[in-house]
Amino acid sequence: MTAAKLPSILMSSTALALLAGCATYTNGADVDPITAAEAAQDYAPDIPEGTGYFASESRLPFHAPDFTQISEDDYLPAFEQGMAIQTAEVAAITGNPAAPDFENTIVALERSGAMLSRVASVFFQLTGTNTTDRLDAINTEISPRLSAHSDSITLNPELFARVKAVYDNRAAMAMTVEDARLLENTYDSMVHAGALLSDAEREQVKVINTELSTLTTEFGQLARDAMADQPLIVDTREELAGLSDSDIQAAADLAAEKGFPGKFAIALQNTTQQPLLPVLENRETREKLFRLSHDRADGTRAVDTRDLIARIALLRAQKAALFGKPDWASYTMYDRMAKEPKTALDFIEQMVPALAATQRREAELLNAAIRADGGDFTVQPWDWYRYANRIKAEQFSLDEDAVMEYFQLDRVLEDGIFFMAKELYGLTFERRDDIPVYHPDVWIYTVFEEDGSELGLFYFDPFQRPSKRGGAWMGNFVDQSDLTGNKPVIYNVLNVPKAPAGEPQLVSFDWVNTAFHEFGHAAHGLFADQRYESLSGTATARDFVEYPSQVHEMWATWPSILSNHAKHYETGETIPAEMIERIEAAAKFNQGYDFGEVVEAALLDMKWHALSPDEASALVGDPAAVDAFERRSLTDLGLEIELVPPRYRSTYFNHIFSSPAGYSAGYYSYLWTEMLDRDSRKWFRENGGLTRANGEHYRQTVLSRGGTLDYFDMFENFAGRQPDIQPMLEARGLVGGDEAADSEVSDGALPPSAVGEE
Ligand SMILES: [Zn+2]
Repeated sequence: MTAAKLPSILMSSTALALLAGCATYTNGADVDPITAAEAAQDYAPDIPEGTGYFASESRLPFHAPDFTQISEDDYLPAFEQGMAIQTAEVAAITGNPAAPDFENTIVALERSGAMLSRVASVFFQLTGTNTTDRLDAINTEISPRLSAHSDSITLNPELFARVKAVYDNRAAMAMTVEDARLLENTYDSMVHAGALLSDAEREQVKVINTELSTLTTEFGQLARDAMADQPLIVDTREELAGLSDSDIQAAADLAAEKGFPGKFAIALQNTTQQPLLPVLENRETREKLFRLSHDRADGTRAVDTRDLIARIALLRAQKAALFGKPDWASYTMYDRMAKEPKTALDFIEQMVPALAATQRREAELLNAAIRADGGDFTVQPWDWYRYANRIKAEQFSLDEDAVMEYFQLDRVLEDGIFFMAKELYGLTFERRDDIPVYHPDVWIYTVFEEDGSELGLFYFDPFQRPSKRGGAWMGNFVDQSDLTGNKPVIYNVLNVPKAPAGEPQLVSFDWVNTAFHEFGHAAHGLFADQRYESLSGTATARDFVEYPSQVHEMWATWPSILSNHAKHYETGETIPAEMIERIEAAAKFNQGYDFGEVVEAALLDMKWHALSPDEASALVGDPAAVDAFERRSLTDLGLEIELVPPRYRSTYFNHIFSSPAGYSAGYYSYLWTEMLDRDSRKWFRENGGLTRANGEHYRQTVLSRGGTLDYFDMFENFAGRQPDIQPMLEARGLVGGDEAADSEVSDGALPPSAVGEE
């Protein structure tokens, strides 16, 4: 994933150089152009100066942050000054006597907030990777103030009047493609926030927002209660047969803690499936644990969120209606690649027939295994992984520790990832230690173009530590921009367990894959070639940004790359091809469930957010109607939800119901980018694979384009056609494909790792 971006207005930054040669437009309708020009010449707004480290750009190479000069005391005053300066900069735009034009309004806004952007980009990387109690406290204090500050700009009526004046005349302006995109994004984001609404409508939006905030918080708490307060309690140790001694001890401890001394308790996890189900031998215990999870918060027990979600869905539909949109998804998807809910829904529905058939086929396979085992029952969701895992172990016997012996972290990076970057893009890397780091385990490299010129700076922060949050991500300390003249300063963060001192630093194959993935984001940032930061590099749509990173996973197992880096740490022998083949084959196994539960969750998300106010209103106060709606949403298309229930049922679907917007109408994004990814891999394979020419083509058409083009156009520029779903279905093993040509490994942990939450 990429680091959470602040609202683009906050992230836009300054330039020391003045914009030259940019096409501009002067709205002369009600202003005498000569008088206005004279007034503008004398216009010298009062912008406060910042103090402290963040007041000016770092003097280090690439303006890399100088961690020897930054103390924790610097952040809060820098945030406060940064906001005050940007507020003054916006006032200077709205107070400008000159008629609004592209440069004095749109570009001026883009330049504003440079100090704020500098402090934010350092601060939020540190709270993620090397936090302290003090930083956490500042974060809690500053986050609501930052969002209020952002609202004060987005909802500023004088500013919007100027933006609109420029926007309304866009047809008459000569603009570059990127200028046009910046203008459109600036206007759209303000309209999306409510700039075009009447005062009365804006008041209604505020009321809805407040209610949504209350209801979604309540949902989050109830969903958590339903998980945390309702563990499975069993009386005897025998019922937990199959668990390890330490798991049983933990179950005894938890039971005592919950007020059931002498019994055993298993805590629920977030998803419908529960991790201990496969090892539990007692089928009754399995069923109890599964039902506890599946029936969570649906009124079967104390907690019931059904009416809450109906009300949240209604409020969202009502808010969308105020913006003239038929449903919440239409309102919220305005800046996505898919743009409209129908596109996303059609996409999901296209997968269903193959998926449903795979679910039935896998169930038969499991039923055969159950019969062979002497069982006289047919597979249920609580049995599924017990038998699936058994078949998987038999068919693809994979010793993960043995695989790890071929992957050493520094070799993966320098002989794997950097080698790939050289073969595809001609890049070279040079380790440097003259730039201060925020933790001793961070490595820095200068990235060079093929012609020897400097492209940017790359930080690699691989190890797990208590001060770092989980997962893996990429972000920028400095965004590339022609306006500021800045080159990109990029970091990749992983959570690889650190080997004890003196032992080789081996990494699991999953981490190898993730490292290639994150470097894909880094390449997207490094090749950024934009004028404006808010369109630069990975500043792209939610349903696009994971696409280039996923494509880069294909190279982790590309034969010539693999043979360059995957060497046994003792013998130096290259990883046996057969080991990789087994990993690949295993990745296609059990997709009826693994993939199916994710597709179903995505479908539920879209169905909830395609409701009109009337449709949503019919569900409020009628929990049985909520049940029926959920069921119908999934079964209408023929999915086998009795066998494969969704990864999250509506009643505990935190991604979409626990914050005012969250991932609502967005859960499909991971599947969508996977479609783009798999189709692109097909293009690479059909066009000669790992070649410098292919890398250059991908760089020119996708990686260097930031958010400046329509994403469908971008894809077509690359592939010569529109994206096709078939390669994804083949890669998932849902339909027959050219098995021999399919030489890559699935990003198995895709939805949870990408969402950043289990
Ligand atoms: Zn990613």
